[in-house]
Amino acid sequence: MLDEIPLCRRIPQEYRKELCGHINVFLSEKTFEGCRGQRITDEIKLKIAAQACVLLLNRETDYFPRLTSLLIYPDAYWVNDNYEMAGQTIKGKAVNLGESWEQGTVVLSWKQISDELADQYCGHSLVLHEFAHQIDAEDGFLNGLPELGEGANYGKWADVFGKEYDGLRDGAVNGVEDVIDDYGAQDPAEFFAVVTEGFFLKPTEMRQAHVELYDELVKFYRLDPAGWNPDGASNA
Ligand SMILES: [Zn+2]
Repeated sequence: MLDEIPLCRRIPQEYRKELCGHINVFLSEKTFEGCRGQRITDEIKLKIAAQACVLLLNRETDYFPRLTSLLIYPDAYWVNDNYEMAGQTIKGKAVNLGESWEQGTVVLSWKQISDELADQYCGHSLVLHEFAHQIDAEDGFLNGLPELGEGANYGKWADVFGKEYDGLRDGAVNGVEDVIDDYGAQDPAEFFAVVTEGFFLKPTEMRQAHVELYDELVKFYRLDPAGWNPDGASNA
């Protein structure tokens, strides 16, 4: 079933055993709960766990230590959404596809996940996005700066991410098309989640257009997806 996930088809042989091991630990540690009548199947659990665990490959890390449960909705769902406008807090409702809470829970729409998996070139992954937020928040701050690990150059990361984030914001204002989705222009946390999706799903374009950012992500994730077989044919 892993081969039904375009990203997993591209994963080199050397990481496949590790990925399967991570998936097993993930599935034994985390609970899945269906909402609005969504039935939880082995397919749902595996396809979510596999994508999330790609983010753990080749790194010394724990299994999303703050996360205990995943809530799965059949489709988009309504949430209470309070936002600031003209200095006031507006209370409203919004349609959502997924959320990552800093403590305990990730919420996902199964339809969104299966639609993305059905399109090999979709370039988006709700699962990678929400689990990038989990990684970001592991140090207690959901701010686009994850714990980089021992010996990491925080100054370089801050320079590159700051410059790229500002560039995306300027581009979004001016309607410039970019391989990085302008959803990432909202704040640094969304930027980290969106560039994580791009890094794994559009790696060649990311490296071409944003080589410094790509290189920082190679150092962080300890993987180089631009070198993986783009269609996964040799790994099938
Ligand atoms: Zn997000």
